[in-house]
Amino acid sequence: MRDKNRASPDINYSREHRETVGEILSANARIQCRKVNVYYGDKHAIQDVTLDIGRNEVIALIGPSGCGKSTFIRCLNRMNDTVPGCRVTGEILMDGRAIYGPDIDVVPLRAQVGMVFQKPNPFPKSIFENVAYGPRIHGLALSKAELEEIVEVSLRRAGLWDEVKDRLNHPGTGLSGGQQQRLCIARTIAVNPEVILMDEPCSALDPIATAKIEQLLDELRSQFTIAIVTHSMQQAARVSQRTAYFHLGRLIEVGETAQVFTNPQHQLTEDYITGRFG
Ligand code: ADP
Repeated sequence: MRDKNRASPDINYSREHRETVGEILSANARIQCRKVNVYYGDKHAIQDVTLDIGRNEVIALIGPSGCGKSTFIRCLNRMNDTVPGCRVTGEILMDGRAIYGPDIDVVPLRAQVGMVFQKPNPFPKSIFENVAYGPRIHGLALSKAELEEIVEVSLRRAGLWDEVKDRLNHPGTGLSGGQQQRLCIARTIAVNPEVILMDEPCSALDPIATAKIEQLLDELRSQFTIAIVTHSMQQAARVSQRTAYFHLGRLIEVGETAQVFTNPQHQLTEDYITGRFG
């Protein structure tokens, strides 16, 4: 049954609503975002987003194209630092530590908060080297045997080992699109991240490759926190425990995925999920 008293379509909702909309998980939060704003020059791309992301959850970020989903997740490993003119304000804590603090080195941060992109982007190196590269530069293996162990375990966790174990020296770019994306996931896992950010990871993949990645997400969440941007509401419903709906740079609503899709609290969310816009 729909809640007749849910928030109105007016997105200039009250200050109280803005400050509490995402703040429901504090006790189990791995990432706490408080009043995050992002500007590209004069463009105010993310406005006052407050959101907690829990341990061992897959949170889906949905919303119309250009609403700020990518911009928001790119704040979580400071990828926006690489965009000229981009400015981030507010506070983002990872396990209680401010990631925009003066003492933070972004290199280990980006290992701790790994990222998988829309288009699979393996290095032009062998399958083995794609996975071994990160552990090697972060000094995670003391011997060749340890490095081989990390590569095997990472490829197994990414569901790719059986398909590539006999051709580890072949180029990563020779794999199919779905295999390349799982190789990129293995590469991310290999440096022991706590959080994996995924920006439309299946948009370049066919349905079978997509299904494999979705199944993998469910397995990976026992170990990692996952934030996934997706333009597919069906995918959000299949893979996530919570869903956050963004609109014009604001977080409109976040909640249990089933609830967001069956009983959205905000008119804007309902309009999007029923296909009225987006
Ligand atoms: P989404 O991922 O929801 O499609 P984005 O985060 O890519 O949205 O974009 C949010 C807004 O910020 C859009 O208006 C987009 O045009 C703008 N934007 C994104 N990246 C840049 C950039 N590098 N420079 C200027 N504006 C940008």
